[in-house]
Amino acid sequence: MTATTVTTAPTTEHIDALKEAFAKAKANVAPHAQHRVERLRRVANDEARRGRLTDATVLGYIRLLESFPVTGASVQVQPRTNAYAQACQRCGQMIEAGKGLLERSEGSWIVSHPEGECPVVLLEGIPEGRYAIDWASEDGPERIDFYQLFGGKLYAQASDELHPIIETAHMAKVLDAIKADPRGASLLYGIKLGACGVCGRTLTNQESRDLGIGPVCRQRMGW
Ligand SMILES: [Zn+2]
Ligand SMILES: [Zn+2]
Repeated sequence: MTATTVTTAPTTEHIDALKEAFAKAKANVAPHAQHRVERLRRVANDEARRGRLTDATVLGYIRLLESFPVTGASVQVQPRTNAYAQACQRCGQMIEAGKGLLERSEGSWIVSHPEGECPVVLLEGIPEGRYAIDWASEDGPERIDFYQLFGGKLYAQASDELHPIIETAHMAKVLDAIKADPRGASLLYGIKLGACGVCGRTLTNQESRDLGIGPVCRQRMGW
């Protein structure tokens, strides 16, 4: 006999229904409310990752998704563009006035590039992002270190902390290793840490976890 299941754990059927509800919401919910779908997705993913997603929560999330305003509903707010230059919510790069999407989020106005359109920033030919390098010799056991490259700076990542690498030789060694195969180093990061090497989001979809990158970033980077 199998062990007694925890009664509060979500059933496979309900998990599938939730996935379907998210897919439906992504397709049908009005643009001005899409950030609510994405926020809920992040919450649900986070709970699932921590094993805290209960069956009741799953059903609640499905009802919540169904309550979001859909495209074509009577009160529809068109996405607006930004009147002032502002940093992108997704990538942190400045967006010229009129070039980004302006949205109301939790009481403040946020600006972002349309999804998948954040420009790729290069440092010495390497796209900004998160990378993992296996320093092991040919047949040795794995010896993986994690790095982040942002704002023209290179950081060593230890847990969730970033330590800037300032020593020139050290920096050159790491950059050379990444430069040899940026795609491979990014995907290794994603596979090992379960977070997309390009955007940093947690990877929950099985295919994305296997590949080490999310679908939007995969398309954007051509990886
Ligand atoms: Zn952006
Ligand atoms: Zn990503």
